[in-house]
Amino acid sequence: MIRVLFSARPDLWDEYRDPLRDAFAAAGLSVDLARDHAPADVDYIVFAPNGPVSDFTPYVNTKLVMGLWAGVETIVGNTTLTQPLARMVDPALTQGMVEWVVGHTMRHHLGMDLHIAGQDGVWRNSTYPPLAKDRPVTILGLGALGEACGKALSQLGFPVTGWSRSAKEISGIRCLSGDDGLTMALRDAQIIVLLLPLTPQTENTLNADRLALLAPGAFIVNPGRGPLIDDDALLAALGTGQIGGATLDVFRQEPLPVDHPFWTHPHVLVTPHIASTTRPVSASQVVADNIRRVQAGEPALNIVDRAAGY
Ligand code: NAP
Repeated sequence: MIRVLFSARPDLWDEYRDPLRDAFAAAGLSVDLARDHAPADVDYIVFAPNGPVSDFTPYVNTKLVMGLWAGVETIVGNTTLTQPLARMVDPALTQGMVEWVVGHTMRHHLGMDLHIAGQDGVWRNSTYPPLAKDRPVTILGLGALGEACGKALSQLGFPVTGWSRSAKEISGIRCLSGDDGLTMALRDAQIIVLLLPLTPQTENTLNADRLALLAPGAFIVNPGRGPLIDDDALLAALGTGQIGGATLDVFRQEPLPVDHPFWTHPHVLVTPHIASTTRPVSASQVVADNIRRVQAGEPALNIVDRAAGY
């Protein structure tokens, strides 16, 4: 019998208990899934932030900590965590992000807000958007999510540039890396999508100097992490018109404080960290598959590089 400890916010237990049990059974695993195993008996931990486990020291026989979230910035620096950590890469999570990013990119591209916010009887038909082929889009981060979003936008006709830490070749995407690559990726881009993880290296990636590289009136779509953008620099660039608008899903402080200027800014759309959520049924299959792999002596998938921080 494999003992799996579920450590997450208490309300997630009801959402995940049955999907996890079903997925373990479907994977042919005999699992005792519970929230209260004795630490030394635990083979695997299914983990999300704000659960009971924060000190991993007593889990001396745990083979893998399987995170339910894609972002790992709140756990990657935990010095008690010496066990391997895997993060969530799930086709449903990816599909959700593609749909959200395409939706908000299209909204900015088509200038939909002008009409959504302007139902005042005035017939504004003098402006129309360029075709997608004339709207350069840059995706910062070409991982599981950034690559999928870049491919989807490329298929819609946008010229897509992507930027990552390591050099890549992806069909339909102009791939850049390194500091010079970042400058090239930002220069004259009209829509920027941030899908970088939060690490010491990525904080304030979009600062005042880099916002100035974008095409005048560029749009920002940030489903990555709040600190990737210097908020004051963004507000200043929105004020001058250098940035024409932003859809922000993630923030330095969440929930975003009620008096934060983003809430009332006419060119900022705040969404409450809902770009793409981990879905219990598909995520449970990912968890079960990774446990099956480790049980079979195969390497676990999506192991976090603790030194790189993601
Ligand atoms: P991932 O697969 O780890 O991809 C991260 C990408 O960022 C990789 O391409 C990586 O480069 C690049 N990168 C990392 N550090 C860099 C640096 N210093 N310079 C340049 N590029 C760098 O992550 P993912 O699954 O795509 O997820 C990305 C992020 O989305 C998560 O970390 C999380 O913050 C966020 N997210 C948000 C939501 C939401 O609902 N808002 C949902 C899920 C995820 P390499 O390819 O070279 O490694």
